[in-house]
Amino acid sequence: MNIKDLIRSNVKALKPYSSARDEFQGDTNNMVFLDANENPFENGVNRYPDPKQRSVKALLSLKKGIPEDNILLGNGSDEVLDLIFRVFCEPNIDNIITLPPTYGMYGVLANINAIENRKIPLTKAFQPNIEAITRAKCYRTKIIFICSPNNPTGNSFAKGKIEYLLKNFDGIVVVDEAYIDFSKSESWTSRLSEFPNLIVTQTLSKAYGMAGIRLGICYASKQIISVLNRIKPPYNVNALTQQKAISQLEQDDVIQKQVEQILKERDILIEKLSEIDYVSKIYPSDANFVLAEVDDATKRYNQLIEKGIVIRNRTTQPGCENCLRLTIGTPDENKILIHTLKSI
Ligand SMILES: *Cc1c(COP(=O)(O)O)cnc(C)c1O
Repeated sequence: MNIKDLIRSNVKALKPYSSARDEFQGDTNNMVFLDANENPFENGVNRYPDPKQRSVKALLSLKKGIPEDNILLGNGSDEVLDLIFRVFCEPNIDNIITLPPTYGMYGVLANINAIENRKIPLTKAFQPNIEAITRAKCYRTKIIFICSPNNPTGNSFAKGKIEYLLKNFDGIVVVDEAYIDFSKSESWTSRLSEFPNLIVTQTLSKAYGMAGIRLGICYASKQIISVLNRIKPPYNVNALTQQKAISQLEQDDVIQKQVEQILKERDILIEKLSEIDYVSKIYPSDANFVLAEVDDATKRYNQLIEKGIVIRNRTTQPGCENCLRLTIGTPDENKILIHTLKSI
């Protein structure tokens, strides 16, 4: 498979915008910067941010053991996913495959980019249906979106199934690892050198506790990263986000402890949920939320709202009839949740 053949021709031909901060690459110390029409008076954010986010990438590279050239950063992973669409999918011609029930953004981005979304439901065990995917794909299928651990089901997909798709699909396989930090499974980033068609996305929005700064991460081959860099908005990750990401990543032992606590709380929640008579099924979770089937999801959802607790009603998702998705909160929040669930 030649990745180059998958890239849209207009993207291949494109001359990227060259920003002021791109053009001057020298030592920034003791230089007078009169190249970007900024207000010269220092206030901490009067300068444009580094368009390549080199300090953030250096830190991520160190922590994840992945070279900086294999990393692209975005304004949340949602921007990263949109960039992937725009590099590979020709509007009104190409198609993608998604595996519902899954993260809704893939379908929304397909619509925005005028790309057909071939939905191949997960099996009853919430695993990819390889036979059905094989039947559905065609030479115009550019991307398969795999979310593992999957939102909203919570489980990880079997390694062998993802491996099968990486080996047998002549397009891009995106593995969305938004919840990987809660999982016992190893990240697919360790397999990047084996599979030129693999793109792994991660985010600082979930385990890392920085949903507010919007920082999404994409790991892929140098070739894919360089083409994504060609089309990304030059200053897509702002200066405050870059600063905050660095200061938080430097103290990620705190995050490790929080993740352990969240996982303990998840076990408690699962145990308590099993004591409730209107809860008919609790799905195993590899993430910081639990999917539970109840007697009447919409009724229970509304009852909780009345008591001041907001969860996610997933009942309209295929295979999720009468299912609620509960995010793990603080120990106090979880106690309130359980108490309320038992009282309604
Ligand atoms: C929450 C979530 C994201 C979020 O991405 P941002 O980095 O906050 O844009 C991506 N993928 C999945 C599956 C998610 O659940």
